[in-house]
Amino acid sequence: MENKDFYEHCLDLLNERGVSVDDITECTKYLQSKYHNDLDDQVFIDAIERILHKREVQFTIMTGIALDKLAENYQIPDEDLQTCLITDEPLYGIDEVLAYSICNLYGSIALTNFGYIDREKFGKIAELNDDTKQCNTFLDDIVGAIAAAAAGTIAHNKGTVK
Ligand code: MG
Repeated sequence: MENKDFYEHCLDLLNERGVSVDDITECTKYLQSKYHNDLDDQVFIDAIERILHKREVQFTIMTGIALDKLAENYQIPDEDLQTCLITDEPLYGIDEVLAYSICNLYGSIALTNFGYIDREKFGKIAELNDDTKQCNTFLDDIVGAIAAAAAGTIAHNKGTVK
């Protein structure tokens, strides 16, 4: 367990829930498009993959998706919490707090990017948010946070943050 890498496991979990690295790439490009339009897709993919290799990120993905699955199967033991999760209650907010744990690893640009994409609900995030077939209460925020963190690392590496 100590040195176990959950990277492949997390990619499988994301794919199983309908999220690919390409989807996260599109969200990252959206966040970064105002600043760098000249970047190769590989820059985005590399940034996202580095983030997905971090243990803290992997645990966040595993936790969020597990809670989404429990909620959609009506297995949350607290009835009120079950209702919050299955209805994606706007005042619940812990889905965003869990996602911050990814942004917090990458600094303030990641956090502000996350706030922005969470409100704009671009691409896959909108799709997850509108999905009526599965519960994505945590997953939409996790996707937003990974994209936000990736855009943050690209901004720092390019050195031009406007
Ligand atoms: Mg959410």
